[in-house]
Amino acid sequence: MKASQFFISTLKEAPADAEVVSHKLMMRAGMIKRLGAGIYNYMPMGLRVIRKVETIIREEMNRAGAVELLMPVVQPAELWQETGRFDKMGPELLRVKDRHDRDFIIQPTSEEVVTDIARQELRSYKQLPKNFYHIQTKFRDERRPRFGVMRGREFTMKDAYSFDRDVESAGRSYENMYAAYCKIFDRLGLEYRAVAADTGAIGGDRSHEFQVIADTGEDAIVYCPTSDFAANIELAEAVALLAARAVPAQAQAKTPTPGKSTCEDVAALLGLPLAQTVKSLVLATDELNEAGDVAKTQVWLLLVRGDHELNEVKAGKLEGLKAGFRFATVAEIEEHFGCKPGYLGPIGLKKPVKIVADRTVAQMADFVCGANEADFHYTGVNWGRDLPEPDLVADIRNVVAGDPSPDGKGVLAIQRGIEVGHVFYLGTKYSAAMNAVFLDETGKPKPMEMGCYGIGVTRILGAAIEQNHDDRGIIWPDAIAPFTVVICPIGMDRSDEVKAAATQLHEELQALGVDVLLDDRGERPGAMFADWELVGVPHRVVLSDRGLKEGQVEYQGRRDAEASKLALADVVAHLK
Ligand code: ATP
Ligand code: MG
Ligand code: MG
Ligand code: MG
Repeated sequence: MKASQFFISTLKEAPADAEVVSHKLMMRAGMIKRLGAGIYNYMPMGLRVIRKVETIIREEMNRAGAVELLMPVVQPAELWQETGRFDKMGPELLRVKDRHDRDFIIQPTSEEVVTDIARQELRSYKQLPKNFYHIQTKFRDERRPRFGVMRGREFTMKDAYSFDRDVESAGRSYENMYAAYCKIFDRLGLEYRAVAADTGAIGGDRSHEFQVIADTGEDAIVYCPTSDFAANIELAEAVALLAARAVPAQAQAKTPTPGKSTCEDVAALLGLPLAQTVKSLVLATDELNEAGDVAKTQVWLLLVRGDHELNEVKAGKLEGLKAGFRFATVAEIEEHFGCKPGYLGPIGLKKPVKIVADRTVAQMADFVCGANEADFHYTGVNWGRDLPEPDLVADIRNVVAGDPSPDGKGVLAIQRGIEVGHVFYLGTKYSAAMNAVFLDETGKPKPMEMGCYGIGVTRILGAAIEQNHDDRGIIWPDAIAPFTVVICPIGMDRSDEVKAAATQLHEELQALGVDVLLDDRGERPGAMFADWELVGVPHRVVLSDRGLKEGQVEYQGRRDAEASKLALADVVAHLK
C-alpha cells in the first residue's frame, strides 16, 4: 500500500470531549470520526485494525467449531415480547416503529433471534451441540456513552450462542468457548485476566469476564497472585462479606427460628455453600413444596423487581421457608432502599424456576448488591443479622489489596480492567421462554441448554491502546496494527537511489505477505515520523541517500529508544 493512495488524516490536538488516552489517540490518528454521541465513523486506518481483530476472532471461533451466520440488526419486537425483554429491558434497548406502526428493536444482542432459528432448525438431539455466531453491529442506548469506541452506543460485537442437550454438554461448550477466548486474547497480544462474574438470574458458576488490564478501566478486578482466585469486584466483595461473617455454630440448626434466622441458617439448612447464597434475598420455589425436602430444593436467591412476577404469588406454598423470615413487600423495599428492587443473581441453580412469592426476606437480607444492569449497581451485600436499623453504606464490605483471599491461599490484589469479553451459561432461560425444544433419544421434547459468548470487537481497539501507548502515540501489538511495517524514504522525490530501493523493498515485503506501507507523500522526515509514531506502526524502516551509500537503512521498532543500522540486504529477513 502506498500512503498517497491510502487515506491518512492525523491531528495535532485531540478534541476536548476525549477524556481517556485511547480516545484521544484514536481521534488524533484518524482512526475514528465522531458522528454523534457514542456513534463513530470507522475511518480507513481504524477499520484496518477492526478487520484484523475480526479475523483473529473468526479464525479461533471457527477452529473451536462455532458456525458463522449473520442475524439482522433490525429485529421484530414479537420475538422480544416472547421473552418479555421488549418490556423489561430499560431505555438501553432502542425501539423503533416501521411505517405500519409495527414495533422493532435495534439489536443490543441476539438471544431471541438465534433461539428462534434454533427452535425451527434444531429438532433432534443428533443436531446438538451447535454453536452459532456472528460479528454484527449492535446498538445500546448507553446512559453515558464515553471513551470513544470503548463505550459507544453503536459498536461491533462478536456474539456466539451454544445449544446443547443437557447441562453437562453445555458445560463442555462453555469450557470450549472459554479456551477459544484465551487463544483470541493471546493472539491479540493483550495482557488480560479472566475473572468470575455474577451469573445474574441464571445461577451456577459459569460466567467469566475477560478483562484487559488498564489503569483507566471502568471495572475493578480482584485476584490472588498465589492462587486461581479472580473475580470482578462485585462478586469478590459479596464473597468477602460472607467470609467475614462465618457461619456461627448455632446457625447449623435445622429449623429456622421465626424472626431470628439468618442467611447462614438458610444456607446451612439448604446445604448450599455460603458462597453460592451470596447477594440475595431468598424466595422459595414451587419445587420446595413438591419435593417436600428443603435440602434438595433449588432456591432462587434474588431481589424481586417490578410487579410482573409478583402476580404469581403463591405465598401459601412457602410455609417451609417462610417460618424463619419476616417478609417485606416491594413497597417497603422501595422505601427502604430508595429504588425499585432489581433482579439479582441466583446461584447454584440447575434450571430456572418460577418465583412464587411477592415477599422478600428483609430481615435476613439488608443488602446492597451488584446487579448487572444500568442504574442498579449496588456493591457488597449486608446480611444484617439482628440489626435494628442497619447502616447500609457502612456495612458494605470493601475489598482492599492485602485482604485474605477467600480460598485461603494468599492475599488479594486489585487491578483495574476493561471488559472485552464475557462468557455466560444461560441454561434454559431463553429456550424455555420461546419453546426451543429438541427430541431426545426417547422422542421426548426437552428445552435446549444455552450459553452466550460476547466479545466487544470495537472496544478492543480502545483497550489495546490504553495498554500500549507512550507520549508520542499508539503502540499496536503486531497482530492488529493497521500496517505492520512502514517504509519512510527521505528525499524520494530528489533521489533515484532512494526511490528505487524503497519501491523494491516495498514490493519484496508485499510479495511475502507483510502488511507494509510505503510513505511516498513527500513529507519532511519529522512530520513523517510523528505521523507513524502517532498511528502506532510497530516497525519503521528509514531509507536515505547517505545510508544507502553504505548499503544500510535505519530500523526502529516502535518501542525502541533509538534506531539501529541494518544492512539493506537484511531488511526483508529481519521483518518477514
Ligand atoms: P459493560 O459492563 O461494559 O456495560 P456489558 O456487560 O453490558 O458491558 P455484555 O452484554 O457482556 O456487555 O456484552 C459483551 C461485550 O460487548 C462486552 O464484554 C464488551 O466488550 C462489549 N460491549 C458492551 N457494551 C459496549 C459498548 N457500549 N461499547 C462497546 N462495547 C461494548
Ligand atoms: Mg452494559
Ligand atoms: Mg459488564
Ligand atoms: Mg458483560
